[in-house]
Amino acid sequence: MKAAKNYQFWFCTGSQDLYGDECLAHVAEHSQIIVNALNQSGILPYEVVWKPTLITNELIRKTFNEANSDENCAGVITWMHTFSPAKSWILGLQEYRKPLLHLHTQFNREIPYDTIDMDFMNENQAAHGDREYGHIVTRMNIERKVIMGFWEDEAVQKRIADWMTTAVGIMESSHIRVCRIADNMRNVAVTEGDKVEAQIKFGWEIDAYPVNEIAEYVKDVKQGDIDALVEEYYSRYQILTEGRDPEEFRRHVAVQAGIEIGFERFLEEKNYQAIVTHFGDLGCLQQLPGLAIQRLMEKGYGFGGEGDWKTAAMVRLMKLMTAGKKDAKGTSFMEDYTYNLVPGKEGILESHMLEVCPTIADGPISIKCQPLSMGDREDPARLVFTSKEGHGIAASLIDLGTRFRLIINDVDCKKVEKPMPKLPVATNFWVPQPNLQVGAEAWIYAGGAHHTAFSYDLTSEQMCDWAAAMGIEAVVIDKDTTIRNFRNELKWNSVYYR
Ligand code: MN
Repeated sequence: MKAAKNYQFWFCTGSQDLYGDECLAHVAEHSQIIVNALNQSGILPYEVVWKPTLITNELIRKTFNEANSDENCAGVITWMHTFSPAKSWILGLQEYRKPLLHLHTQFNREIPYDTIDMDFMNENQAAHGDREYGHIVTRMNIERKVIMGFWEDEAVQKRIADWMTTAVGIMESSHIRVCRIADNMRNVAVTEGDKVEAQIKFGWEIDAYPVNEIAEYVKDVKQGDIDALVEEYYSRYQILTEGRDPEEFRRHVAVQAGIEIGFERFLEEKNYQAIVTHFGDLGCLQQLPGLAIQRLMEKGYGFGGEGDWKTAAMVRLMKLMTAGKKDAKGTSFMEDYTYNLVPGKEGILESHMLEVCPTIADGPISIKCQPLSMGDREDPARLVFTSKEGHGIAASLIDLGTRFRLIINDVDCKKVEKPMPKLPVATNFWVPQPNLQVGAEAWIYAGGAHHTAFSYDLTSEQMCDWAAAMGIEAVVIDKDTTIRNFRNELKWNSVYYR
């Protein structure tokens, strides 16, 4: 899927006129060199735009307000090359509303021992100026990211790249609209939530439609369009009829093709980027949307099962954040299903009754058609595959009644030991960090759901930064997690996030 916009990030260097014009000329030249190097690194997903050095209240205020109103600007990167008295920044910062990065760097890598004099010290004093600036941002309680290190280092550039991705998630969150087909599953707690609060906090618009309204769009799909899409399926995926009559199998697949086309038309026409379904309320749909939803997720739509709109919005958000990422490994809706508790081989088999996104697939993808006890409809066609190995994150957004909490678990995806020929669903298998026991205990203490938004292409740090920008609590379960500290963290957080 394509990135939502050609976002840019402004690079604003702070200074003052105390050191003379020659010094200011150097400051401008140095920051231009840094901006060019960042843009040429090939590491940053978005362009950095150099801005003239900020030295006065008026210019700082004007620049931040221009950043607010520039549609393409997704954030401002600030750096105090020399000393920049921080009171000059108050009004600008007060009025600024977009993501803010404080890049704490320095133009020179090494102290020039043989030539260093007081002119050099005055010109190159980010160690000094960035502290003055950082002080006022902290005093004003403004959410920002601080990244320290030499601007030419790949590790620093990668962290800037990661922050840009988060910033785009912050900017794009308020454009997410979730289409709820029917309500969420009866009696289930974790898929409930305060939709008004979600719009206040995240900007999400969450609307419900009767299932037959979208089913009408499915009915209206022309046979020719369905046939063409079925052809595409048959050329792209392995067909595993498993003894079923090939014609009957193809008719079942065609039902999903009709759902894919009809659903997509409905979502496009009504401007929704995420959808939830519920197997208990299918109206006149012939099958529970399986293959159809998998294909829509692959195209970038968010999805949550059983009416889980929070997870659907998170899947969409994480797909937006990773859109256009080089060598992306995939992002999907996921559900914790069953454990392997054999010592040394512990892990969680992840899946859903049908709807796993093929972007996370490893190897061939097959179409199967199997009975489904849920939904009371004909046997749905679905894509079946196993997932890539490697590091990923599983995120669960929960509503605690008075506030939201985002729980993020670092997980290591592996191959299962043996094929599972009788399992007719796509799977992933992962070991939560720090291990299954502590990971699962911490998850349960935190109140994490069985549904997650999963990605290979994001880090827990990025999701924490996003949550901080949204003003909600985030807790991470990773290699450093201990149950004692984690339970204390939850208690401390409950005081802070009242
Ligand atoms: Mn589910």
